[in-house]
Amino acid sequence: MGVRLIRISSRATGERRTVRVYVYTDLAEMRAAASGFRGQDHSDSLGVTHAYVDDDGRVTVPIIRLWVGALSAIIVSHEIAHAALAIFGSTLPKRIATAKHLHNANETHAHLHSDLESSLIRMLYAHGYFE
Ligand SMILES: [Zn+2]
Repeated sequence: MGVRLIRISSRATGERRTVRVYVYTDLAEMRAAASGFRGQDHSDSLGVTHAYVDDDGRVTVPIIRLWVGALSAIIVSHEIAHAALAIFGSTLPKRIATAKHLHNANETHAHLHSDLESSLIRMLYAHGYFE
C-alpha cells in the first residue's frame, strides 16, 4: 500500500493554480480516502476529483485521486477535466453562480471532455501519429 503525491500547475488563468494528484497503489485505500473527503460514496470509483474551497464555495485547490491499476487516458483526462473546470469556475466574478455547472462535480462536462480526448488519442495512435 502507498500513495504518491504529484503536484501539477498551470498559469492559464493568469495566476499559478495547483492541482494535487494522489496516486494510490491500493484501490481500497483510494476509495476510502475519496469517500472520507466529503462523505460521499466512492466505493465503485476508479478516479475521483474533489476540491478544497474558500468561504464562498469557490475552488482553491482541486484534488485528484487515481489508482495505479486504472491510469488510462480516459480516466486521467476525465479527472483533469473536473479539475480544470473547477479552477476556471473559481476565476469567474462572484456574481456568476458557479455552483451548478462550473465546478469539479460537473460529470457531463468531464465525460464529454474525456470521451472526445480519449477517442482522438486512440485514433491518432491508430493512424500512426504516435509511436
Ligand atoms: Zn467524474
